[in-house]
Amino acid sequence: MPQNPNIKFEPPPKLSELGRDLLELTPGQRVLTLALPFIFAGMYFYAAFTSHWLIAVASVVYLSFVTYGSTSHDLVHCNLGLSKRTNEIFLTLIELLALRSGHAYRMAHLHHHAHFPDEDDIEAAAAKRSAWGALLEGTTFHFRLWRWALKRAQGPARKLILAEGWAACLLIIISLLLCRTTLVPLIYVLLITVGAWITPLVTSYVPHDASGKNELEQTRVFRGRSFQSLLSNTSTIWNTICIHQSRTKTGPVSPGGSILTLIGLA
Ligand SMILES: [Zn+2]
Repeated sequence: MPQNPNIKFEPPPKLSELGRDLLELTPGQRVLTLALPFIFAGMYFYAAFTSHWLIAVASVVYLSFVTYGSTSHDLVHCNLGLSKRTNEIFLTLIELLALRSGHAYRMAHLHHHAHFPDEDDIEAAAAKRSAWGALLEGTTFHFRLWRWALKRAQGPARKLILAEGWAACLLIIISLLLCRTTLVPLIYVLLITVGAWITPLVTSYVPHDASGKNELEQTRVFRGRSFQSLLSNTSTIWNTICIHQSRTKTGPVSPGGSILTLIGLA
């Protein structure tokens, strides 16, 4: 994508210049951020068991957005002002709702912040491919991300990533065993799996430009009133991506709350 020569790169502003009030998170916002993934997972099962399939499918779509791209991302960066133990438990549980390892995600994602777009930045791989290539990448992305983390993790972190992977496998096996009684859990697994295929396209290919020379050029520009009103009114993930990308390599926005969550859910 050609870069706009009128945009001059300057180092990202410090948090103190942006305003530290952006870090404030009310208890209500914190509870809602943590509750949304469980609410949408619960909505799927309730709607599916009562044969409201449109609502069931929509719930999984929303669940996909509020896990990897929103709540889980805040937990990866410890931005919600939770105790370390509580943060880790929610990261495991919420990513397990989407049949993934939360701690593998954290390892790969923090590496992505520090090393974009290096060869071993697994999250950046799709940014170097075509849109179709990014979609293809998505079909195996979460498994490869888990394997990537497992190879690099050591000690208790490795055990946790391994346990989360096995827990996800166990949930899939349970859904298969229940097939004779009900297809609802297996359809959940299939929807979550297929929905996750777009992750590299949405979170890597679209917002990044791996050929950029600095943080500004490595971030695609999303401007314009129609674009802004369309996306900011309909999707939390796009706000997350746009703001988050502007902070690539500047590190997490912690402690005490997340700009991402505030903008996404406020
Ligand atoms: Zn991040």
